[in-house]
Amino acid sequence: MSIAVLRLGHRLVRDDRTTTHVALVSRAFGCRKIFMTDVDESILKTINRVCDDWGGSNDFDIEIIRDWRSLLKTWKKNNGVIVHLTMYGINIEQISHDYPQGKNILVVIGASKVPKDVYFLADMNIAVGNQPHSEIAALAIFLDRYFQGKELTKSFDNAIMKIIPSSRGKRVKIRKLKKSN
Ligand code: SAM
Repeated sequence: MSIAVLRLGHRLVRDDRTTTHVALVSRAFGCRKIFMTDVDESILKTINRVCDDWGGSNDFDIEIIRDWRSLLKTWKKNNGVIVHLTMYGINIEQISHDYPQGKNILVVIGASKVPKDVYFLADMNIAVGNQPHSEIAALAIFLDRYFQGKELTKSFDNAIMKIIPSSRGKRVKIRKLKKSN
């Protein structure tokens, strides 16, 4: 069972930073993949650079897609579960995260107005509180509830840089890259 994110919509330039942060949260908090629509290729480069430096490039994929409706339909056809994060949904406080075993989960988050059919294509519309806020906050809190905090101690393979946690100061271990002949 794995969890992926669909970032639906992206206003060029204006949303670059938010979409990048959505992708960083997806990677850092244990998702296997992020699908994005309408984004600039530079976002892809930024995230790939983070994966190269901080590890986990084999465990996290990014795909830019055009037809998100077809992704949602295929996901359902393949027996996956679609969770849409929206302030109009059922409050996450009332949700038990007992998802059917073995089913892959796709978490959908929007940028601006989310098309109405998403609310019906989703198996669950979940609200992280019923007030408007941010897709980054909604995703982070959802993933934290889903993984019950375990995502925060996840390790990442093949990292060039690794933080040595310190209560004061900053310590980073840098792996020397082997020279190729
Ligand atoms: N006005 C937009 C709409 O009606 O769809 C919402 C835009 S909001 C800035 C961007 C995204 O943040 C939403 O699509 C949703 O995924 C997420 N979001 C914002 N507040 C949320 C909440 N309280 N619970 C869950 N997700 C939320």
